[in-house]
Amino acid sequence: MRIDLHTHSRASDGTQSPAELVRAAVAEGLDVLALTDHDTAEGWAEAERTAREVGLELVRGMEISTLHRGRGVHLLAYLPDPTYPPLLAQLERVLEGRRSRVPVMLDRLRDLDIEISHEDVQRASGGTAATGRPHVADALVTLGRVADRTEAFDRYLGAGRPAHVDRYAAPLVEMIRLVTEAGGVSVVAHPWGRSTRQWPGERELAELKDLGLAGVEVDHQDHDAEARGLLRAIARRLDLVVTGSSDHHGTGKNDHELGVNTTSPEDYARLLELAAAAAARSDRPAPEVVRA
Ligand SMILES: [Zn+2]
Ligand SMILES: [Zn+2]
Repeated sequence: MRIDLHTHSRASDGTQSPAELVRAAVAEGLDVLALTDHDTAEGWAEAERTAREVGLELVRGMEISTLHRGRGVHLLAYLPDPTYPPLLAQLERVLEGRRSRVPVMLDRLRDLDIEISHEDVQRASGGTAATGRPHVADALVTLGRVADRTEAFDRYLGAGRPAHVDRYAAPLVEMIRLVTEAGGVSVVAHPWGRSTRQWPGERELAELKDLGLAGVEVDHQDHDAEARGLLRAIARRLDLVVTGSSDHHGTGKNDHELGVNTTSPEDYARLLELAAAAAARSDRPAPEVVRA
């Protein structure tokens, strides 16, 4: 059984529609797919329809941009009720922060003699609710200033680069609580990816577990073999669910093909058990797994 619990569609910054993504998952021989667009459930309905059509097991989720002790942490939320008002309010705030930094980034690029219009960015994003930095990167690619998104981030848009602009992220501790209240479960995405070097560590993860964190994404392309080994050991000691996933973005991210990392059936089953328990405790109508 091949299980991929972290993917993006055009509802955020992937390059495939939710339907195309679900079909691609079937073509790749996956049995279970989670759709986890950034800060939005916009792609859920289309993904669900297609999953039923093609007989793929689908977990509806999202990847929420949060902040913990001054550092960015991506939180995967599986099966929360996305209409739970406090959760929705935080998501709207994150999305608004994502949108509102686009004009500032465009100003900074203009200072560098790179002329990109708001319409160029809209065209790149297809008008999704999560329009933001990756789509500015796509516009830079279209303009021929960079070869791909990675180069756009490295040269212009990443932290410390000349067109970088900070934005709002939801407090991590509050988001874990809201996801639980909404009947879902949360997993820290690629905790040691990017530049944060083995942080959060065992102590922080133990604290987060006490607050309701269900698991840690261990097998991710941003983690090398050593990081995976250390993180897996920590997760097992803390009795956290271990996940593995592709973080697929269609052609928007190199080396993140569907199923490149997967989650074991045992860990997946445990994640669903924890989600069912959260849903039972919550008074919200949490979504269920779409069964093939
Ligand atoms: Zn992420
Ligand atoms: Zn992601």
